[in-house]
Amino acid sequence: MKRDSFDPAATLWSSTAAARTPANPLEESLEVDTAVIGGGFTGLSTALHLAQSGRQVALFESFEVGHRASGRNGGQVVPGFKPGPQALIQRFGNDVARRMMRFAYGNADALFELASALEIDCAATRQGWIQGAFSPASAAYLEGRAREINAHGGDVEYLPGDAIAAATGSRFWPAGLLERRAGAIHPLAFARGLAQAAAARGVSFYEHAAVNGIHAGPGAAKTLQVGKHLVHAKRVIIATDAYTGQLWPAVAQSYVTVASAQIATAPLPMALQQALLPRRAGVSETRKITYYCRIDPEGRFVIGGRGRASDQIDPATEQQLRTAALKRFPQLEGVRWEHRWACRVGMTIDDLPRIHELAPGIWTAYGYCGRGVAMGTALGRVLADAVNGVPAADLDFPVTQLKRLPFFPARQFGAALAINWYRLRDALGHPG
Ligand SMILES: Cc1cc2nc3c(=O)[nH]c(=O)nc-3n(C[C@H](O)[C@H](O)[C@H](O)COP(=O)(O)OP(=O)(O)OC[C@H]3O[C@@H](n4cnc5c(N)ncnc54)[C@H](O)[C@@H]3O)c2cc1C
Repeated sequence: MKRDSFDPAATLWSSTAAARTPANPLEESLEVDTAVIGGGFTGLSTALHLAQSGRQVALFESFEVGHRASGRNGGQVVPGFKPGPQALIQRFGNDVARRMMRFAYGNADALFELASALEIDCAATRQGWIQGAFSPASAAYLEGRAREINAHGGDVEYLPGDAIAAATGSRFWPAGLLERRAGAIHPLAFARGLAQAAAARGVSFYEHAAVNGIHAGPGAAKTLQVGKHLVHAKRVIIATDAYTGQLWPAVAQSYVTVASAQIATAPLPMALQQALLPRRAGVSETRKITYYCRIDPEGRFVIGGRGRASDQIDPATEQQLRTAALKRFPQLEGVRWEHRWACRVGMTIDDLPRIHELAPGIWTAYGYCGRGVAMGTALGRVLADAVNGVPAADLDFPVTQLKRLPFFPARQFGAALAINWYRLRDALGHPG
């Protein structure tokens, strides 16, 4: 395979976002009301909402804001949960499940309203999102899912064969589900915009400031080790998702991390753009280990899919993505692929994110299973409510007890096991 020259550190988003000067690292010890660890959507949104409620907040990021998943994702803003309404009702009971659905089905609206209120220039578009079926069984599953979601406050449409072909310009998917409230953003621009808005509301940012440890002392005091310096805080938010590692090992052992890789073409000629995804909705699939694609605001075709347990894309994964693109859109034959990158996502075993209070005053939210753009931003607001003392019963998302995955003593082994299990499940034609 011929490889174009490229900078492996650069992504489509980092090469097309407006320049930004990073904040300084921490240069002295500090006392703060709330320390937020992690500058992705979860941490940024929590910091913003806490500052809006009058709290004194400092945010610490190992690299720069948006360095991991929040600045490297597909930018698809998809509301809702992967589990359907009945599964949620069965598990959480009617009242809690209905509240969760109201929250989740509205979280794309919430993101677009936030971006607009904060005047974040992130190329926001609202042409929906399509989940393509890959088998007759998954088409039937999507038809039932559409009925169920609409009966519980969602806004989706089942697209049979001709309708999905008209919306996507491809006959690859036998049917699909259109999520009307969905859309897309430039993810790094959105992350940087959130950071700018939070800073304007008083949040202190420290970048290249990895937190190496958290010590919860007696009473309300917590101490963070940041390089040579100490940060004393009354409350701590851990917003490090797939990159939590040794910072709080029990969290890192409660999910698996899976790599997702993306490639993007050069801007395509207008005629080709119009033939591809004519509705301009992003597309994903019902498979657990799925491919997803969209057209970016400058007419590049972007496709992503499972990577190889690493933050770097390897040639085999890139080839696999090119092949997947051509299978879905043969019109892409001969186009030039200009960008390639990868990153990791946190996947929980039941496809639901988590909020926990890990110790008094130490909160976390994580585990978005590839749907963290709208959800991470929305759960940041819920974390801020929790920190501000809103009772658990009144929060929009349930606070649960942390549970380690008992059968995953070694995380990477666990991830490999889970991927194989999901692959097998997909190959056997599991519908959703
Ligand atoms: C390739 C890819 C494509 C995706 N596509 C989509 C999509 O189209 N739509 C969608 O909804 N979701 C998508 N997702 C998922 C979504 O991007 C994530 O769920 C979401 O960004 C997670 O946000 P976060 O803030 O919780 O975590 P992150 O964005 O990963 O942020 C965590 C931050 O914590 C920092 N950090 C870690 N440890 C420390 C420490 N010790 N001290 C200080 N800082 C630390 C990291 O550097 C990082 O910046 C995708 C993910 C990937 C990887």
